[in-house]
Amino acid sequence: MLKRFFLYVFRWQLSTPILWLVVHKLGVGLSATIIANLIGAGIFFWVDIFIFGGRKSKKSEGIELWHLKEDGRCGACGKKDSLWRLVKTANYDRSGSKAVFLCPDCSREKLAELKNKGIETAYQQAR
Ligand SMILES: [Zn+2]
Repeated sequence: MLKRFFLYVFRWQLSTPILWLVVHKLGVGLSATIIANLIGAGIFFWVDIFIFGGRKSKKSEGIELWHLKEDGRCGACGKKDSLWRLVKTANYDRSGSKAVFLCPDCSREKLAELKNKGIETAYQQAR
């Protein structure tokens, strides 16, 4: 958050040369200030999206977190196998819940169930 704040302070400083240039050329009148802010808006609309929005949130939506267990008992059927669990994806977050690891068969069923609820994983899309 602090890093973003400093980025924002820096972004405001970037508007200084625009304001200065317009005021220097056109004077300190109201119309000059309006023009300076129009130029600034045209530039910083995109800069602000970069700082606060779009790119970053899209990026974190793409992050999928899985926990893997080399060997253990499936939380659903009790079979001994290599296990995994989906912890987090775009619209699914079980990072605060009790860990339930599933075998490949049960995991496939669970993923199909999630898919019906609109929760998609890269794992499903890859197949
Ligand atoms: Zn199982």
